Amino acid sequence: MTLRVAVTGASGRMGQAVARAVSAEPEMELACLVARAGSGLVGSSAASIVGDENCPITVSNVLDLDAVDVVIDFTLPESSLVNARACAEAGVPVVIGTTGFSEAEQADLESTLASVARCQAANFSTGVNLAYRLLSLAAEVMGADSDIEIHEAHHKHKIDAPSGTALAMGHAVADAMGQSLSDVAHYDRSVNREERAPGSIGFSVTRAGEIVGEHTVLFAAEGERLEITHKAGSRDAFANGAVRAAKFIANKPAGAYTMSDVLGLS
Ligand code: NAD
Repeated sequence: MTLRVAVTGASGRMGQAVARAVSAEPEMELACLVARAGSGLVGSSAASIVGDENCPITVSNVLDLDAVDVVIDFTLPESSLVNARACAEAGVPVVIGTTGFSEAEQADLESTLASVARCQAANFSTGVNLAYRLLSLAAEVMGADSDIEIHEAHHKHKIDAPSGTALAMGHAVADAMGQSLSDVAHYDRSVNREERAPGSIGFSVTRAGEIVGEHTVLFAAEGERLEITHKAGSRDAFANGAVRAAKFIANKPAGAYTMSDVLGLS
């Protein structure tokens, strides 16, 4: 059965990558492509965005869910919450890639979507989600004997830091060592002049150019270092993962599914 997919954020970098990935997927049909009200794209053909001159879709400013099986949303928290309400009312599953929700917004999102299947992830790439598992293993085996540092690099437009993915990696490491990340994370070394605290997890950040997303976790033990690195080469890595998640949740009962569930790592 062909899945009818609605994609939001038509003028955004991720929205466009997802629209292309959906169009290229034989088991999916791009049923609705939504831009924010006032966007110059509203009313224009989606053909050039998806790179298919036969695409019959016109960019809309309304998330019309009448003939939609699943929604993929990469926008901003405020807009994702509006889209979530529409999905809940229509009973349509949703994949949420938007990051940067405040605690209150995240709680609102979760209660709004309680009645539908949803998959939310700070990073939809297959490699990163596999890396979480590898990091747990590394932390279990050598974490207690290592200095652990997490470095991430992103493009100059990104405003939150460290990235949600770096924090998720920190949680994977801390959880595996029976720690709470908030107790061991060290974000700023410019204030106190002191040696590295044993057992801490240090974070550092680069913002430059158009780097799509790079993360390295370093385990520095006596006489050896292990580095687990993931580099995203293009946004297609996230878009393809989101498409995979959409296929997975489309016919699932209501519930919060993770990328571990989608990839069979749970
Ligand atoms: P972007 O700035 O290029 O695009 C954001 C889009 O949201 C734009 O199309 C904008 O028009 C739309 N938008 C904003 N407010 C809106 C509103 N009120 N109504 C409707 N549309 C609205 O950003 P991007 O690089 O495409 O990233 C989008 C989001 O996805 C960010 O939160 C980013 O951190 C996140 N992201 C997640 C992953 C992941 O794997 N989970 C990967 C990359 C980016």
